[in-house]
Amino acid sequence: MSQQDENQYGFDTLAVRAGHNRTNEGEQSEAIFTTSSYVYSSAAQAAARFSGEEPGNIYSRFTNPTVRTFEQRLAALEGGERCVGTASGMGAILTTCLGLLKTGDHIVSSRAIFGSTVVLFNNTIARFGVETTYVPLTDLSAWEAAIRPETKILFLETPSNPITEIADVQALADLAHAHGCQLVVDNCFCTPALQKPLELGADIIIHSATKYLDGQGRCIGGAIVGTEECVGGDIYGVVRSGGTNMSPFNAWVFLKGLETLRIRMEAHCQSAQTLAEWLEQQPAVSRVNYPGLLSHPQHALASRQQSGSGGVLSFELKNGKAAAWKVIDNTQLISITANLGDTKSTITHPATTTHGRVDPELRAQAGISDGLVRIAVGLEDIEDIKADLARGLALL
Ligand SMILES: *Cc1c(COP(=O)(O)O)cnc(C)c1O
Repeated sequence: MSQQDENQYGFDTLAVRAGHNRTNEGEQSEAIFTTSSYVYSSAAQAAARFSGEEPGNIYSRFTNPTVRTFEQRLAALEGGERCVGTASGMGAILTTCLGLLKTGDHIVSSRAIFGSTVVLFNNTIARFGVETTYVPLTDLSAWEAAIRPETKILFLETPSNPITEIADVQALADLAHAHGCQLVVDNCFCTPALQKPLELGADIIIHSATKYLDGQGRCIGGAIVGTEECVGGDIYGVVRSGGTNMSPFNAWVFLKGLETLRIRMEAHCQSAQTLAEWLEQQPAVSRVNYPGLLSHPQHALASRQQSGSGGVLSFELKNGKAAAWKVIDNTQLISITANLGDTKSTITHPATTTHGRVDPELRAQAGISDGLVRIAVGLEDIEDIKADLARGLALL
């Protein structure tokens, strides 16, 4: 499918067909090109490829047909000009930082971001003289107050993990642009099936393909989407020379995952909505965090910005950590693991796992109490998931 064709097709068609250039073998399913290098017809052609005079494959660290198919497909779904696949979601964030920032620059980031992203900013990026200031995701004036003349990027995830706060992407994009900054959105929780931050003014999209893009818990990968100039320029340059690239096999798994992304996300949303409403009725539960609930403080914003509320929810138990652990330990079906974005439901206690290293006071500020339990709702029968939780809830 040519890029021109892509403009005329809808999301579901692009998810299945974008980026596929059939070889002369006539394969129906996309091929996996497991080759590290490519062969030229002459010394002159090799020279032309290396100099960039002639387009084409050179070396799979930066040119691989299977990775390119994944990249073109995800770019089409996000509505971006260019996508670059990376070895992991963290690789995508590292690559973006290395591509866009230099010593003396500054990042303003939501404080409610993936734990390893905080570690990357504080321990690695900071050593190169790039400081990060953390702000509450939903406090627009705090974002504005944190911006300095040397601020280059604003970074966020929405909905946040684990309490599902929603950022106003359009307002933050306007703020970023008014100060000459770029807005980077980690779109891992919603995926382009539910939310398209580029259409709301964001400049760069980050993905952990490991989560919903794969959707079946198999491979680690990541991606960066944005303009040809930005992502195809300095960011691709880091992948090319720095080797943070995606493997062809993983790219193939992800591009097949994209084919079912929307219908999977719809099923995740539907089950999560049902479960959230049911949890709200349980006497041992004091609060449920899910953007699809009328009780969610930003329900209206979420409904405007997202076409579905996502597969992740969290809930608070009245009796703290002991109660949370009791519910978790009495599950027989749901997997006790911090991962998400899988067909298999997962359950975790953020205060002692994903956020266990966060200072208790900061944790409380971020709304992560000791009684909080997070569930990434999978694709099992929702009645079975309810029954799995009801067992522990009945003991409280
Ligand atoms: C998992 C995750 C990442 C990191 O992705 P990896 O593929 O594990 O490196 C980044 N952001 C969010 C929101 C995630 O959930």
